[in-house]
Amino acid sequence: MRLVFILGDQLTRGISSLDGIEPTRDVVLMVEVAAEATYVRHHKQKLVLVLSAMRHFADELRAEGITVDYVRLDDPDNLQDFTGELARAVARHRPEAVVVTHPGEWRVLQLMRGWAEGIGVPVEIREDDRFLCSPAEFARLTAAGKTGRMEYFYREMRRRTGLLMEGAKPLGGKWNFDAENRKALPRGHQGPQRKRFVPDALTAEVMALVEARFGDHFGRLDRFGWPVTRTEALLALDDFLTVLPAFGDWQDAMQAGEDFLYHALIAPALNIGLLTALEVAQAAEAEYHAGRAPLNAVEGFIRQVIGWREFVRGIYWTGMPGYAATNALNAVRPLPAFYWTGETRMRCLAEVIRGTRDNAYAHHIQRLMVTGNFALLAGIAPGQIEDWYLAVYADAFEWVELPNVHGMVAHADGGRLGSKPYAAAAAYIGRMSDYCRGCGYDAKARTGRNACPMNYLYWNFLITHQDRFGKNPRMALPYKALAAMGEGERAAIVSEAEGFFARIDGPEAPSGQLSLGV
Ligand SMILES: Cc1cc2nc3c(=O)[nH]c(=O)nc-3n(C[C@H](O)[C@H](O)[C@H](O)COP(=O)(O)OP(=O)(O)OC[C@H]3O[C@@H](n4cnc5c(N)ncnc54)[C@H](O)[C@@H]3O)c2cc1C
Ligand code: SF4
Repeated sequence: MRLVFILGDQLTRGISSLDGIEPTRDVVLMVEVAAEATYVRHHKQKLVLVLSAMRHFADELRAEGITVDYVRLDDPDNLQDFTGELARAVARHRPEAVVVTHPGEWRVLQLMRGWAEGIGVPVEIREDDRFLCSPAEFARLTAAGKTGRMEYFYREMRRRTGLLMEGAKPLGGKWNFDAENRKALPRGHQGPQRKRFVPDALTAEVMALVEARFGDHFGRLDRFGWPVTRTEALLALDDFLTVLPAFGDWQDAMQAGEDFLYHALIAPALNIGLLTALEVAQAAEAEYHAGRAPLNAVEGFIRQVIGWREFVRGIYWTGMPGYAATNALNAVRPLPAFYWTGETRMRCLAEVIRGTRDNAYAHHIQRLMVTGNFALLAGIAPGQIEDWYLAVYADAFEWVELPNVHGMVAHADGGRLGSKPYAAAAAYIGRMSDYCRGCGYDAKARTGRNACPMNYLYWNFLITHQDRFGKNPRMALPYKALAAMGEGERAAIVSEAEGFFARIDGPEAPSGQLSLGV
């Protein structure tokens, strides 16, 4: 008899640990443990998503005749961590072996590697074959030169899957249509009504549990609408396909009050196993072939799913644990309290944090160019900003969150993920959103009483890291502009930035960002 241990982000019938399961003999183990809910204080919606999806998935397995030993969070005997619960289950079932699929987090892999010895049963850790590229293949593919960059890796994934290919050539004659995907929204644009799923009785029960046990975690629960079963996830994918034609043009655009726009809203479902990357990419491709979506939108979406998503996973598994320990820009500032309260005069940040609290969601550009950009410019310690992202987004699992934050946002990996830091001043935010129009700060001013902090922090960042980035050809333009500034203006920028840092680092800062004028 084998005990198949399924984790909360492995909720798919095709998961490798279930291969060859013998329902009359084997038992599936699923456990809800407080240690995993609290090692970072996850957003309440994320907890509901995972726990509700686990309970639904267990019911689906039982309906197939599979025995599921399911330990609930409020079970009085629950030891509340993976290792303790596995040991208890082994004592209950006395299996010959435990079978698991490789986890999504290096920390959990270390736990798993200790189980055989600690619990006294052989533990088989199977590869997670939901991905197109294994870590070993990734290491081989990206070993040298140009192929180490995402764009070349992505082309290889296109060739391998045949997606948007005409023989050996990319459909439309180009691999990448990104240049067409950076449009701003027209003023006052109204986004589409997106499909949200009304919680069923089981989800409602989990919501009550989460509110009772983790009520002080970040986030609102009353707006929960994530898909929690494969059937719902497929409906969410269908909903996305109806807005896919506009996804390309406006995937970088932001607008106050429009929390979802034309984005897929499928990452939570993908990351816990309710959908697979290949099926969503193929569904998008089919829209192109049916003449319902343009190539720039479909290519842009497919690149995110089979390019970026696979690439960051490869970076994570080939780089850990050393990858997370790097801090190339020596960033050490603590995370300002307004990341949790949203109380800041900076409207861009307040709006993205408000959406994050309401939905456990923000789209890519909001994460990268608003909360991420500020963290980069302010030199927030990578570990602190990573913990925040891991906690607040419903789709955040470390294999995908960490490289995006550590590499793309914080540039802490010294450029492994991106050859230049994603740093921007207010002009970028003003171009891609309507945030600046309603902001109390002056988006055009670099210095002075009401100058936008993104401006002086941006120039201060360039000054601080001139030795590292001054000769980077991709940063030639901003450094030319910096060189053209007079000494007086440079000094004023540094002094504005120092004053700002003193306010956010100060002893009163945690509860009083607004009153401090930040
Ligand atoms: C700082 C930062 C942190 C992020 N943290 C996460 C995270 O914890 N989990 C996560 O799934 N994504 C993360 N991303 C990537 C991206 O922001 C989310 O995948 C996306 O916002 C999810 O929403 P969506 O399904 O509407 O995606 P869309 O914007 O519609 O994109 C389609 C799909 O492409 C994939 N994708 C797009 N960009 C990336 C990327 N950079 N890395 C990996 N997959 C990508 C996702 O699966 C997504 O569902 C992060 C990006 C940044 C800049
Ligand atoms: S003016 Fe500055 S702080 Fe205000 S919304 Fe624009 S970029 Fe953000």
